[in-house]
Amino acid sequence: MSIIDRALEANRNYAKSYNPAVGGRPTPKIVVVTCMDPRLSDLPGMLGLTLADIDVIRTGGPAVTEDVIAELIISNRVIGTREILILNHTGCGFTTFTDEEMNAKLVASTGDTSPAPMRFFSYRDPVENTREQIEKVRSHPWIAKDVPVRGFVFDVNTGLLQEVEPNRSQVVTLPPQTV
Ligand SMILES: [Zn+2]
Repeated sequence: MSIIDRALEANRNYAKSYNPAVGGRPTPKIVVVTCMDPRLSDLPGMLGLTLADIDVIRTGGPAVTEDVIAELIISNRVIGTREILILNHTGCGFTTFTDEEMNAKLVASTGDTSPAPMRFFSYRDPVENTREQIEKVRSHPWIAKDVPVRGFVFDVNTGLLQEVEPNRSQVVTLPPQTV
């Protein structure tokens, strides 16, 4: 029996004690962008929030793609979250290869070149990755300026979060006044 088959069996038990109130309109307070890595799954424990408080956007890395930006905009402006937390981590699988290496490996193992070059959003340094992500989100014109955008690296060995300071270039400076 596959894992999915077992999961479907478990779901029938789950539904027996399911609280239908959970199916009402969600009112999360914060949106978190984080990696698909299962070590990042205990967000309520990690952040001291309830499951219902958190909109979660997960990608490998995480990668802040145009799709993720679109989801952040909907989370803020339609669903009503008021803060954005970007959560990278140590020991990420996406730091263990480059996009070029992965493309070459997949072309070699499948014999099919047609999807290449695929973007996997591999990266080297989680701190620098977080900085770039903060900049990308913060500078988007449809992300409201009064919504805090903060980035962190979760240490998978200690469980601690380290905040990443944004680049100086992100400090908003007004253009010089012209007469
Ligand atoms: Zn990761």
